[in-house]
Amino acid sequence: MQTLGVIGAGQMGSGIARVAAQAGLAVVLVDRDGGCAEQGRDKIDKQLRRQVAKGKLDGSEAQATVARITPGGKLSLLSQADFVVEAAPEAHDLKAAVFAELDAIVPPHAVLASNTSSISITALAAVTRRPAQVIGMHFMNPVPAMKLVEIIRGLQTSDESYQTTRALAERLGKDTVLAKEAPGFIVNRILIPMLNEAIFVLENGLASEEDIDSAMKLGTNQPMGPLALSDLIGLDTVLAICECLHKELGDDKYRPAPLLRRYVAAGWLGRKAGRGFYSYG
Ligand code: NAD
Repeated sequence: MQTLGVIGAGQMGSGIARVAAQAGLAVVLVDRDGGCAEQGRDKIDKQLRRQVAKGKLDGSEAQATVARITPGGKLSLLSQADFVVEAAPEAHDLKAAVFAELDAIVPPHAVLASNTSSISITALAAVTRRPAQVIGMHFMNPVPAMKLVEIIRGLQTSDESYQTTRALAERLGKDTVLAKEAPGFIVNRILIPMLNEAIFVLENGLASEEDIDSAMKLGTNQPMGPLALSDLIGLDTVLAICECLHKELGDDKYRPAPLLRRYVAAGWLGRKAGRGFYSYG
């Protein structure tokens, strides 16, 4: 494999582009907004320069990594991609439209992976003419720091596509787990109800943001409290996953906290918006 396509240059897409370029792959980073793709590459450049300044990375290696990333605003740039990871927003119709268009652009051998947190891989595969080559490749946030990639096989995903995906994850320095296709897979099936419950605790006035987070950090040994983690993930993404779990599993225990909906409606999406449960300068 030589060329990796990444779709969506937000926090996940730019993280995936960075680890892939650091592993020596040529990366084409495409965002609906071409300016965002350029910003994504600039962000990676800044992150790597900081590592150089700290003596953790060689300057020429940092430069070579950034030079391997080509940003752009059109899916047609992916016509030479051997493998594509889609990291566009967590919305079924949007992702399905991307997959349908992508299928007509990439070479026949290319595998199409989605970084979706909850959406059915089988449903995305169904809009393509290569369902055996569609798979879930769920990276964790922040991508350069987190070791795990959850791999999700759709109904028709082939063994070959699974092996290719696993080999790619390993090349990027990640450990993998295999999850059966079900809403939220492993991590978000367990994590999102916990984050949502923390938001209910806040909404019910049981404790302050700081005390909820301190309680879970110091009391259950988590590195980040649930509200700070929700802000890191993005409250729009937390809400979308929660809605997917609620709709697909049909159990009211997954209903999103009304406060979460109100924050998203206000544009308080967490760190990426400068404001969520906490304010970010
Ligand atoms: P984000 O909001 O930071 O970035 C999304 C990017 O996609 C934006 O730059 C936007 O301009 C771009 N975009 C929108 N529509 C597009 C289109 N049609 N084609 C191409 N680009 C488009 O979101 P994110 O947090 O990076 O999440 C992306 C995906 O990764 C979601 O499916 C999410 O569920 C998943 N994910 C997120 C996290 C997390 O912690 N945030 C963790 C694992 C997986």
